Amino acid sequence: MDPILLRVLESIAAFVVGACVGSFLNVCVYRIPLNRSIVTPRSHCSACGAPIPWYHNIPIVSWPLLRGKAACCGTRIDLRYWLVETGMAFLFLALWLKYGEVDPVAAVIYAIMISGLTTACLIDLDHYIIPDRFSLGGCVAGFVACAIHPSLMDRTTPLQGFSWSLAGAMAGALTLLGIAWLGTLVFRKEAMGMGDVKFVAAMGSFLGGTSITWILPLSAMVGSVLGLALIFWQRGAWGTRIPYGPFLGLAAVLWLFGGHDITFAYWQNVAHMWNMATSPMTDPHMIPPPR
Ligand SMILES: [Zn+2]
Repeated sequence: MDPILLRVLESIAAFVVGACVGSFLNVCVYRIPLNRSIVTPRSHCSACGAPIPWYHNIPIVSWPLLRGKAACCGTRIDLRYWLVETGMAFLFLALWLKYGEVDPVAAVIYAIMISGLTTACLIDLDHYIIPDRFSLGGCVAGFVACAIHPSLMDRTTPLQGFSWSLAGAMAGALTLLGIAWLGTLVFRKEAMGMGDVKFVAAMGSFLGGTSITWILPLSAMVGSVLGLALIFWQRGAWGTRIPYGPFLGLAAVLWLFGGHDITFAYWQNVAHMWNMATSPMTDPHMIPPPR
């Protein structure tokens, strides 16, 4: 088959799969905190209980066609459902375009990771909790993924992949525990939940220890800017509770699309400057070439 045509078909497939996954995530976000099965019963209207026929349940397309209202009883359907479907479709497409050709296995693993991540972040937005099955479960999934596919950690053997994944999780958990401990000292109240600590550990297990030096500063920066904007907007409602999970999730996704390259370039620069400062005489640029 023509390689360009194949690439177009693959991209369309990634987009459609992403939209369907997004639709399923909406169900998970609604049902998992209520401890309901995510498989049965089939989709039904949350207002009147009427079953939703498949043609009113098509990802991305149905919401605008129904003008954001349930066909059965006219209850408003939150725009967020549509945003999650569309967002996941574009994310899956972007993942495939960036990783599909170089490392298709990594693309699939990252797609699964982002699905769990997004579900956890939306549950955190709604209920201020990140269920253990996403944070601790995510850690285990990361260990397994890196053992099966060590190149996620830039390693070659399963044992190396697993070890580096474990180290990444530890790096995330310990750093956040340290910050939480400092926060408790300074603010004299619990500044961060254990849910966030476990969540960052899961990110470290998939993305490696270096990713923590990107995820934490970026999420803290975006979180405080948005937090201040919210306080300003709601006229001084200090203590308004903002879940931290979604900011961590956003930073983790951005790691896959540029954050990795920026962070590694940064640390290489730091290492280079450190070498220059500590041993100027052994730096090859400083020694004139022998004649
Ligand atoms: Zn209804």
